[in-house]
Amino acid sequence: MKRSFLFILLAILLPSSMAHAAGPIQVLLLDGQAAGAYHQWKLTTPVLKKELEETGLFQVTIATSPESPSGDFSQFHPDFSKYQVVVSNLDSPDWPADLKAQFEGYMQNGGGLVIVHAADNSFPDWTAFNQMAGIGGWRKRDEKAGPLWYFQDGKLVSDPTPGNAGNHGLRIPFRVDTRDPQHPIMKGLPSSWMHYGDELYSKLRGPGQNMTVLATAYSDPANHGTGHDEPMLLVLHYGKGRIFHTVIGHDAAALSAAPNGLLQARSPRRSPPPSQPPTQ
Ligand code: ZN
Repeated sequence: MKRSFLFILLAILLPSSMAHAAGPIQVLLLDGQAAGAYHQWKLTTPVLKKELEETGLFQVTIATSPESPSGDFSQFHPDFSKYQVVVSNLDSPDWPADLKAQFEGYMQNGGGLVIVHAADNSFPDWTAFNQMAGIGGWRKRDEKAGPLWYFQDGKLVSDPTPGNAGNHGLRIPFRVDTRDPQHPIMKGLPSSWMHYGDELYSKLRGPGQNMTVLATAYSDPANHGTGHDEPMLLVLHYGKGRIFHTVIGHDAAALSAAPNGLLQARSPRRSPPPSQPPTQ
């Protein structure tokens, strides 16, 4: 059975009683908006859905959000309580207050949330979402969103230096380093592995509460980086809810990669395009 990195992480995120329940684990996959054409959610959502469902463990329902602020939300009422986990592939600037309140209630009561890559660009002014994500970038976030977070001398530090949030270099392969090998999500994964060419997010800011960084990657100044070991994989708590946040996963190829030596990469490796326009 082919197993994607995302599947392993999602399976471990869930309580074992759920993972071995008779029926499939119900997943609500959110999409519907991005800050630009560089995040092609119409292409990446099917990849996420397929990776989950081909395991036989998950049943994925897609909820496509209207665009904010222009869309009509009157018919968009996902029943979060029907799902054991919500996977967000959505980068929206905002949601109506009642929808946000419903989602906050779902998470407070023990919901599951997986935030994939640019989904952490979402909702810059939604306090609870930023607490769930821990860190985020772009959409005019700056020091008011919280400090920068990165690893220094082997531990997570916060840095109040002012400035805009969100940065990355060209999509080239980079090494991911495990920081919490005892965490159940990291069990069985290498201490370090090479990741397919992807955006290595840096300068992410946020409240960073109840946050454990599981893996980092070095943001190389030679590729527009910060010189810091930036968070790549995180887990957080919000109320009784649990969150897994991967900043990895810009496109279908990056989402299909798997740690070297452990899993078989599912996409042919290609060189990055010769020129890459600014993306997030
Ligand atoms: Zn991206």
